[in-house]
Amino acid sequence: MISVFKKAFSHSIKPTQTKLLINGKLVNSLSGKTFETINPSTGQVICSVQEAGVEDTHLAIAAARKAFDEGPWRKESASTRCKVLLAIADKIEKHKDELATLETLDNGKPLFFSHFDVQFAIDAFRYYAGWTDKIHGQTIPISGPYLCYTREEPVGVCGQIVPWNFPLLMAAFKIAPALACGNTTILKPAELTPLTALRLGELIHEVGIPDGVLNVVSGYGDVAGDALVRSRDVDKIAFTGSTNVGKQILMNGGIKRVTLELGGKNPHIVMQDADLDLAVGLTHFSAFLNSGQVCMAGSRTFVHEAIYDAFVEKAVAAAKAKKTGDPFEQGVENGPQISQKQTDKIMGYIESGVKEGARLLTGGKRMDRPGYFIEPTVFADVTDDMLIAKEEIFGPVMNIIKFKTIDEVIRRANATQYGLVSGVVTKDLDTAIKVSNGVQAGLVFVNTWMAQNSATPFGGYKNSGFGRELGEISLKNYLETKTVIIKRPGLSL
Ligand code: NAD
Repeated sequence: MISVFKKAFSHSIKPTQTKLLINGKLVNSLSGKTFETINPSTGQVICSVQEAGVEDTHLAIAAARKAFDEGPWRKESASTRCKVLLAIADKIEKHKDELATLETLDNGKPLFFSHFDVQFAIDAFRYYAGWTDKIHGQTIPISGPYLCYTREEPVGVCGQIVPWNFPLLMAAFKIAPALACGNTTILKPAELTPLTALRLGELIHEVGIPDGVLNVVSGYGDVAGDALVRSRDVDKIAFTGSTNVGKQILMNGGIKRVTLELGGKNPHIVMQDADLDLAVGLTHFSAFLNSGQVCMAGSRTFVHEAIYDAFVEKAVAAAKAKKTGDPFEQGVENGPQISQKQTDKIMGYIESGVKEGARLLTGGKRMDRPGYFIEPTVFADVTDDMLIAKEEIFGPVMNIIKFKTIDEVIRRANATQYGLVSGVVTKDLDTAIKVSNGVQAGLVFVNTWMAQNSATPFGGYKNSGFGRELGEISLKNYLETKTVIIKRPGLSL
């Protein structure tokens, strides 16, 4: 960790890769258009990157199509694909400091957290490298003179659209299983944070993947993203982002394979018997991680009435002690929000909380410094009908809500359109199991938070999306099952 912080102070890195990656070449956009990416810690422009328009995106799709239909990738032996994925992991590892620094510059997350993301990305490539030669079908005994078996084949050309809150990590979660299964892909990073994805594309290209297998188009969602979604040459869309855009993708995409990783309004439940310090630590981690800009943020903190006052007191003290500021500085836990627009949106939610009668106990203000910083904010006496308890804030806001009984809290936890993640803090095993079974969520944490790894499925119930990323199950997103029935020659029916 110390070496991480030493490197933190030398963040004079200049992004070197700002071009589109199309058919194995780093190119400018056909229109000559570029767009600026901003350092959220300062509000200053970092650099301009190439802006993919519809035509550029179509070129990338054509390259991926050709590489899939004609190219060697899907026909490569599993061990070759394994070797390439391992080489990608090694390459990222070799450039891990650069990538982490670039991520913190572009996204604003504290440097130690960018290092966590980079390590997780490396692990994901290694994990899916291990799956390449374990993808197989079944033989199925059917009546008659037949041999019946299934083959798991790559789905084809994948359009992979990722958000700004985990730019590199989300790219890795998508690219690694797609490539492991033999697909070709076009990655569209978020326009707010294109830098690590563009560099990742270059690094993967340097590893020696065939032209057209991975393409990266930085550009706007309603242009480049939409062109991917609407293209008939794209077989599958893997999307991580907001529920609203997820709905548009379902409407615009026609019949293609789609997986959606969307928003959350995640309940984190603190039972009466919980260790108070552990509960405050975990609920703080879940609410404030990445300045609250996490789909799995614990944005509804349900606390049992018996320990409510003591919890609130400790939670406020912990928020006050949280160091907010330059994400390159040692000890900073809370960086900036991603943009002016997000900052305004979050401030709007904070104002609504005050207006609707929640008790603002600390924070609630923008910080008087350049960049997009908001003080860690704690509301108590939040009720289920308040906007801050219903909508995804995506900011550093803890909403503390009182409850009385376990059945009541499970019902209230589930009273949301979302169902991504839930957490419970308790010493009692029965309570842990009852809550875990009762909550509608794709992932439940008991006495921990964000403890997943590349092998653990991740995804949502209800409007948090469908399909699961990570783990063996993610391979299913990138495979088609083909059933083959062969009549054995010479045998009549
Ligand atoms: P967003 O939906 O605005 O954008 C996500 C991506 O979609 C971006 O690359 C954007 O350019 C693109 N896009 C926008 N409009 C599009 C369109 N019409 N067609 C195709 N692509 C389009 O989301 P965001 O603001 O970047 O990210 C925040 C959201 O992402 C939050 O709601 C958060 O909960 C969610 N998220 C979910 C997960 C998860 O795994 N469930 C993980 C991270 C973020």
